[in-house]
Amino acid sequence: MNHDNRIGITSSVPIEILYAAGLKVVDLNNVFIESDDPSALVERAERKGFPESSCAWIKGIYAAVRERSIKTVIAVVQGDCSNTHALMETLEFEGIRTVPFLYPYDRDKALLKFQIEKMCQEFGVDMGSVNRTKSELDAIRAKVKEIDRLTWEEGKVTGFENHYFHISCSDMRGDPQGFAGNVEAFVNEARMRKPKDFDIRLGYVGIPPIVAGIYEFVESQGARIIFNELQRQFSMPEIEQDIVEQYRAYTYPYHVRYRLEDIRREIARRRIDGLIHYVQAFCFRQIEDIIIRRSVDVPVLTIEGNRPGTLDLRTQMRLEAFLDILRSKQRRRLNR
Ligand code: SF4
Repeated sequence: MNHDNRIGITSSVPIEILYAAGLKVVDLNNVFIESDDPSALVERAERKGFPESSCAWIKGIYAAVRERSIKTVIAVVQGDCSNTHALMETLEFEGIRTVPFLYPYDRDKALLKFQIEKMCQEFGVDMGSVNRTKSELDAIRAKVKEIDRLTWEEGKVTGFENHYFHISCSDMRGDPQGFAGNVEAFVNEARMRKPKDFDIRLGYVGIPPIVAGIYEFVESQGARIIFNELQRQFSMPEIEQDIVEQYRAYTYPYHVRYRLEDIRREIARRRIDGLIHYVQAFCFRQIEDIIIRRSVDVPVLTIEGNRPGTLDLRTQMRLEAFLDILRSKQRRRLNR
């Protein structure tokens, strides 16, 4: 098997450029969390010297690069995570080629355009081929949008399935054609399903969980997550003709206000009863919890994960109590 065309990414980047260049994109977050033993990857990084008191996602990404023998990594050095700087320097020190990409904090169009053009130059592709690739990827994104609609409007897709297809859009599973086929087959199958009854409609905001079982636990309690905020962003839900506008509409890398606009709009559109805000131990984004809690008009439960594993008992109990609160709120509203 020829591995030479693989390129790792630490976060969503304009993958149109990479696929136009004939590369196979590998989202290192997915490699880490979907490995047989993600805890072992975290430990591998710690044995190399990564501090215990640092984010497990960063450690997992590092170990995923080494385990998969990835030779080139695109590191998002602005707009994702400040830890990526040190990660990139460490990888570079160990002989990995790293290519920086940055999202301008204020969504400046000219600066983003410059970054995109620079990336095209780095990988030797022109805008014509990038735009042709973009059209192909947009067709897949439109189908994933249908999966999202089947989730919140028709109740035919589970919260986890919704999460899975959205996060897969960051790299299209390294094989856009194959992924397109899977998405198509899933949409056809899901359309035939009978809707599931659930009384509480939840939104999940924040980075994808490092612990497994949140979606399944919520469903076991008769509720469902019908909005996966950041995962949905990876699918570029606002499809724009222009690639620069496309990546400006992506809310995650910029000021939190853009995420809040999206969250508030979707709470109203999807009639969401409450939000789960997932935060990661040792992540600077935890601080944004202050803003998120004050900016929405539905109850918010903040849960924290640290290392890979399954949902712990304490978090299960907190989720149960949260659902009780939402149900009594719902009853009071109906009795009014
Ligand atoms: S969870 Fe936070 S600290 Fe960890 S990689 Fe993501 S943004 Fe960085």
